[in-house]
Amino acid sequence: VATTTPKRHCESTTDAGKPCGANPLKPGTIIEGITVTGKWCRTHDKDLPTSAKLDRTRTREQMGGRPPKPKLPEVERQLVEQHLEKVLRPYWRTLGYDVVLDAVSGSLSIVSLEGGGAKLYGTSKDGEVRVSAHEDIGAMMEAAEKIRDRVFGRPKQQTEVTGLGGAAVQVDHGIDLSRLTDEELRVLKGIRERTGDG
Ligand SMILES: [Zn+2]
Repeated sequence: VATTTPKRHCESTTDAGKPCGANPLKPGTIIEGITVTGKWCRTHDKDLPTSAKLDRTRTREQMGGRPPKPKLPEVERQLVEQHLEKVLRPYWRTLGYDVVLDAVSGSLSIVSLEGGGAKLYGTSKDGEVRVSAHEDIGAMMEAAEKIRDRVFGRPKQQTEVTGLGGAAVQVDHGIDLSRLTDEELRVLKGIRERTGDG
């Protein structure tokens, strides 16, 4: 008659006072010169010296593992949130405004720049930059679109596809109709009618 021995569990309890439940060591195993009884798991074995036990409370770093990597998006998000006015300033300066942070309330506002927004410029043969009095509308539109897209999201791109002369698109199904039986042709016709593809 086959008998099943009940699965053994570590007889100790966890820090929370619950039964450990871990697999106990194999009785007779010799660890650091000590023959274990098999009543406990390696963390809880009362006969083993501390050096031989597995301390589950040790951190990965103490165990020689690498420290967890800093999560870049999280770091970036915090930096952007902490310095929002600096991130927004280039866009608003292009439009002719400075972004001002109220140190007390933490709220942001914009004030007109005396010189206005981005200006068209040229470079002389000597490499000297000459700023004109004309606004750089292209740069301003780009900045405005970036701000707008942040707030409202980018507008969806819509592409309309039509067939020859604006007719419905013809799709070549790659079926040689001459090889189909009358019955198969009837079924295909039914399918195309049902899918509005006839
Ligand atoms: Zn245990």
